[in-house]
Amino acid sequence: MKTIPPFDLSRQFEQIGTEINQAALQVLASGRYIGGRFVEDFEQQLAAYVGTSECVACNSGTDALYMALRAIDITQDDEVITTPFTFIATAETVSSAGGTPIFVDIDPATYNLDLSQIEAVITPKTKAIIPVHLFGHPVDMTALMAIATRHNLIVIEDCAQSSGSQWNNQQVGSIGHIGCFSFYPTKNLGACGDGGAITTNDPTIAKRLRVLRDHGRTDVYYHEEFGLNSRLDGIQAAILSVKLPYLNQWIEQRRAIANRYQELLGAVKGIILPQSVKGCTWNQYTIRVESQIEGESVRDRLREDLKSKGVLCNVYYPLPLHLQPIYRSGYSPGQFPHSEKAAIEVLSLPMFPELTLDQQQEVAAAVKACLA
Ligand SMILES: *Cc1c(COP(=O)(O)O)cnc(C)c1O
Repeated sequence: MKTIPPFDLSRQFEQIGTEINQAALQVLASGRYIGGRFVEDFEQQLAAYVGTSECVACNSGTDALYMALRAIDITQDDEVITTPFTFIATAETVSSAGGTPIFVDIDPATYNLDLSQIEAVITPKTKAIIPVHLFGHPVDMTALMAIATRHNLIVIEDCAQSSGSQWNNQQVGSIGHIGCFSFYPTKNLGACGDGGAITTNDPTIAKRLRVLRDHGRTDVYYHEEFGLNSRLDGIQAAILSVKLPYLNQWIEQRRAIANRYQELLGAVKGIILPQSVKGCTWNQYTIRVESQIEGESVRDRLREDLKSKGVLCNVYYPLPLHLQPIYRSGYSPGQFPHSEKAAIEVLSLPMFPELTLDQQQEVAAAVKACLA
């Protein structure tokens, strides 16, 4: 049976493999494997794309978040507000930097932070907010920045799933104080391995980030603070420089696919389609399968049925962070009902720029048949 995968990275390589090979070979021949001009070039290109004065490349989106939190001096007395409906790294890095994540429930229509609930949890200890532009759907940064300004809070945007997303015609990662990107292969802009970057308009923060990513080193073998080894490899940087000029085209393809899903699935009963907003880049196309029947999740059954028809879907995310073993001691089930409901109901359909019309029609037909 021919299956339709949730994403297929080999298709993109078919398109630009020659350019990627050349870029990688160029780095290999240069002998500049770590640091150097390939990394510096990519940092400048990404800063220009996002629209910030500074970009610091690093080893992963997780390290980008961790170093951003260290750069704003998060300590054990600090609280950072974020969403429980996200990838673990968003909150995990707050904890590993020494702070405490404070969760706020999501808006069920967008899966992003419910901004109307933020002010209720702000305390004298609150230092920052991490909005996550989940699935590529931009957070209302106008409203969020107004809250942050009113309470003198730092905003670190988690842009891991939203390279190229825009709020009000402005790139995410350039609106808050710091933007954190991931180049994990399945993200909108993916490397051929791990990679990440941090964007900011604050030169002091950028300088600090460059120290942190290099063992806290401020001079030759001279260390003023504890840092980490979080460099982007030259090969990954050169590959990302090849891919960045294609990003907008790939985003347009994602948008066309999302629009087509909205049409193909518009009349199907029992599912709720994602909200389509301007500036969304559809890293995931996530439907909601309503509720449970006799304790059984209809979503899980649909996922299994689709699998038997060769359509492979993923669940992002099956367990909200406040119910994870590492965080649940401070929280209880039922505390964030919209996140908990989403965890039971969401299903991400195959979504990648090269998904063909035929494949999409097959996915839609399978969803219809399974729910009939
Ligand atoms: C992928 C992801 C990260 C972490 O990025 P890595 O490069 O995998 O470390 C952080 N936050 C969100 C929302 C993500 O999806």
